[in-house]
Amino acid sequence: MYKPRKLYSWIALLSLGLVLVLIITAFATERYWVQRLNQQVSMEAINVGQYFNTQLERYEHIPDLLTSHYRIRQALQQDTAALALSKVLSDIQKTSGASDVYVLNATGDVIASSNYDSNDSYIGSNYAFRPYFYRAMQGKRWVDYALGLRSGERGIFFSAPIYSEEEIIGAIAVKVDIDKFEQDTEWLAGETSTKFMVFGRDEVVFISNHPYWRLKQLRESEDYSWQDIQATYRYLDLKQQRIPNSQESTANLDGKIWLLEHSPNTQSRYVFGETQLDLLDFTLVVLRPISQTHQKVQVALILATLSYFTVIGVGIFVFRRLAGYRQLIYTRNSLEKEVTQRTHQLEQAHHALVQSTKLATIGQLSANINHEINQPLSAMSTYLVSTKRLLSKGMVEQACENIAKLESLITRVHRIVSQLKQFSRASEHQLGWCSLQTCINNALIVVGPKINNQNVTADIEPVRYEVWGETLKFEQVLVNLFSNAVEAMAESDEKCIILRAKENGEWVDITLSDTGTGIDLQTIESIFEPFFTTKSDIGLGLGLAISKNIIQSFGGDLTAQNNADHQGATFTLRLKRKTDAND
Ligand code: ADP
Repeated sequence: MYKPRKLYSWIALLSLGLVLVLIITAFATERYWVQRLNQQVSMEAINVGQYFNTQLERYEHIPDLLTSHYRIRQALQQDTAALALSKVLSDIQKTSGASDVYVLNATGDVIASSNYDSNDSYIGSNYAFRPYFYRAMQGKRWVDYALGLRSGERGIFFSAPIYSEEEIIGAIAVKVDIDKFEQDTEWLAGETSTKFMVFGRDEVVFISNHPYWRLKQLRESEDYSWQDIQATYRYLDLKQQRIPNSQESTANLDGKIWLLEHSPNTQSRYVFGETQLDLLDFTLVVLRPISQTHQKVQVALILATLSYFTVIGVGIFVFRRLAGYRQLIYTRNSLEKEVTQRTHQLEQAHHALVQSTKLATIGQLSANINHEINQPLSAMSTYLVSTKRLLSKGMVEQACENIAKLESLITRVHRIVSQLKQFSRASEHQLGWCSLQTCINNALIVVGPKINNQNVTADIEPVRYEVWGETLKFEQVLVNLFSNAVEAMAESDEKCIILRAKENGEWVDITLSDTGTGIDLQTIESIFEPFFTTKSDIGLGLGLAISKNIIQSFGGDLTAQNNADHQGATFTLRLKRKTDAND
């Protein structure tokens, strides 16, 4: 669970991140699109410029071609031919695409015109003040632009002198309306939002697809004052009007931005490209409103917001998964640590238990040893005192009897101590696979005389197993078991020992049965305890305890039970047997 304060700081951090991302996106997107717009307007300026140049060149040569027409010189020389010439000019105007074609005499009067039959016919008008006329009369081909005297329409005028035997007798003029260029360039510019303007050195916009800019001055001309301009009568009596504008160079955007009034009191920012139209010394400017980029910036901002939240969402998801994974690893490590600790504690507890069991066993054993050795020792001291007394009285024979008893008591103490030695060494031997048959044979060599003396029948089936243990120790166990069996049958009528071996999985069960007294049911639990014996004189009560200890050290077990027919007992040795898997 997040605390509210922590949550607020996260929200503040994420909001700050979002604001930063949006600022960077807006800046980068605008910069990118303005650069693209810049490239586009530069290309468009070149295209539109080429169009203008081609058109102007096309009309430039028409007056030249017409000057050699015979009807022109004829009409200039005899008034009667003027009408015929006007008709010819009308045909030429239609086929050339020009607005008007007309011929002026040496004084600047129009004597024939393609619009001879309209109300606005130029015939009779005098254009001696027009540069295209007086320049032609000076023998020059001329191109000029101006407002039409009658129509007031903007036009471009192309003129050429008319010669009669080296003498200039008049001029021919071809007028092309500006409307035509404006309409044509509409599709050339492509985008409807694209605007263009053409202006000369007088800074007056002469051609533009945006009517508001037409015939308005952009700035004060470096070459002409407004009086100079008015003196040429190019714009008739046009009043000076300015288009408020300023150019700005922004630090974050490549390229200049032009702030222009596009309607009364409303200005727009434009990206622009420009080119020169050499024939008329015109400057052509193509402009596109920078507001075009705003839509793109808006789209980019929406995408950036979506991307930002997607990235944050994915980040939170991955972080939580990682945190879960780390928690899992941490839990696993703690568990492993705990298991190791617990195992260690258990081992310690087990060790302590073994130690205390050992101590208890040692305690019990010492008590028994104490008892077993103290008895003969006290008997020996009694015999010694009695022997001393007998010797002092000279009763040597009785003293010798006592000494014999002392010897037998010393022998008994020796036996106890030697048996105990074996008991304590039970775990020091080297284990391996032993032939069961060989061990039985060796044991029988030891106990054979005893068996024969007692007239015991031994029914021992040959066996082929190899068992896990140590030969000598195992033989000792067998000797002990055979001896006990023979001793148990001392009073029996039928004296028989039966030995069998039977597989039991990875074990082999070796049973040794006798027809003796069997084991008293009350003592059957105790017969494997050290010093338990029912043979008061000869028994030490260590044989079975040592035997069980030896067999358990082989990884096996030794158990005892009475026979089912209530005659005799059976001791079972369970030992690991050699199988193919052990090879
Ligand atoms: P010991 O033979 O010195 O008495 P053991 O440990 O060998 O010591 O035997 C303990 C006791 O187990 C014997 O005193 C006897 O009572 C009993 N016992 C052992 N073997 C047999 C047997 N085959 N039949 C009956 N009792 C037996």
